Amino acid sequence: MSQPYALDVLNPATEEVVATVPGADAADVDAAVGRAARAQRAWAAAAPADRARLLRRFAAVVDDHIEELALLEVREAGHTIGNARWEAGNVRDLLDYSAGGVERLTGRQIPVPGGIDLTLLEPLGVVGVIAPWNFPMPIAAWGAAPALAAGNAVVLKPAETTPLTALRLAELALEAGLPEHLFQVLPGYGAVAGDALVRHPGVAKIVFTGSTRVGKQIMALCAERVKRVTLELGGKSPNIVFADADVEAAAAAAPMAFLDNSGQDCCARTRILVQRPVYDAFLDRLAPALKSVVVGDPADEATQMGPLISRAQLDRVRAYVTDDLATVRGSAPDGPGFWFPPTLVTGVAPEAPVATEEVFGPVAVVLPFDDEDDAVRLANATEYGLSGSIWTRDVGRALRVSGAVAAGNLSVNSHSSVRYWTPFGGYGQSGLGRELGPDALTAFTETKNVFISTEA
Ligand code: NAD
Repeated sequence: MSQPYALDVLNPATEEVVATVPGADAADVDAAVGRAARAQRAWAAAAPADRARLLRRFAAVVDDHIEELALLEVREAGHTIGNARWEAGNVRDLLDYSAGGVERLTGRQIPVPGGIDLTLLEPLGVVGVIAPWNFPMPIAAWGAAPALAAGNAVVLKPAETTPLTALRLAELALEAGLPEHLFQVLPGYGAVAGDALVRHPGVAKIVFTGSTRVGKQIMALCAERVKRVTLELGGKSPNIVFADADVEAAAAAAPMAFLDNSGQDCCARTRILVQRPVYDAFLDRLAPALKSVVVGDPADEATQMGPLISRAQLDRVRAYVTDDLATVRGSAPDGPGFWFPPTLVTGVAPEAPVATEEVFGPVAVVLPFDDEDDAVRLANATEYGLSGSIWTRDVGRALRVSGAVAAGNLSVNSHSSVRYWTPFGGYGQSGLGRELGPDALTAFTETKNVFISTEA
């Protein structure tokens, strides 16, 4: 029996304790999975229209609580209020979209001689979702909403620093009329509650979003059990600016492409690759744009960038931006709170740690390149492959480079990566499998093929 423990949730902008919640151990996980399995059987047997209706009601209840959920996200994660509202809206929209998929989740009938062949899409059972702290609310929903829609139960373990929005979502699910124990949230340490969820024989699939290091451990444990797994891991995404691009627009958009969520974004465009003829002109525009980013109280409507999540994250970011590096820095408040200014690093080798490793803070490197081949080589010179942007006015080049960059989510003349109705996921060490989009529900089903002889 492990000792009972509690998690203090800090406001990263003030370091004040916002709440203290009990942490789950392996016995709690075991009990939750048992309850979830019982709830799942009834849920899977319900008429699809009834499941869809309840998920739409859940979306409507979330819609009634957008402001409350957003303020909770501001307090526990330090997100700017504008972003936090978008995140709560993303949960609502994804619930609605997933509800729309319930009745469209259909198998096939395949012609065979001597009978009829049917493919049945069955729910997996209990799905374990392990979420990170950087987007606690949407990422909880990216796993939970399609899993529930496909007829599964969900046990969600939020990150230890950010359990509050997930706990509130579980309450709202009950308020909306979802069956008890169908969607449970268990805050706790990764190595305790997360690990127990991964090892539990009653959990059919793990959806993990977090670091590549932990993702590899989870994949190994899942492999031992041949457990289904989706991994959404780290990133070090390129932002490629060709000389023929609208340099003005590219430079104006570049700061928030890596400063959003204080750079704690797996899709952050933290490697800015600029073609040599426009390198100086681009930097001349980028530097003032970076310095004008408003950093401060995340609850203030005018704020564009808030604090980092924790002291540990602040120490990690500081260790990457050593004094010997050439930098352009914006401003940040002094403590309390975990503040680091928007920072550009120039003049480093493409192999430098700050240019290849995921810093997960408001830090980008700017590197020059010669031609298209050079841009693609630099873009792919990382173990990751999550996102990336290509700025050019040449359609042929946009298509060639999109084809050559090894990443799951690319955008041309834009930095947008995430829409709940388009697929999302990584190449290489950025992950395995896809979330969101039209196939999201299918990822939470097992395909069973049934042949019925007509000759008997
Ligand atoms: P993390 O790997 O430290 O933790 C993620 C989650 O895993 C937390 O809930 C944690 O408690 C849990 N965990 C930790 N150790 C565990 C273990 N041994 N067994 C089971 N669970 C365990 O990551 P983090 O620091 O919370 O999140 C930041 C990382 O997430 C970054 O690398 C970022 O790029 C990545 N991320 C990826 C995506 C994506 O969609 N690809 C999205 C957001 C974040």
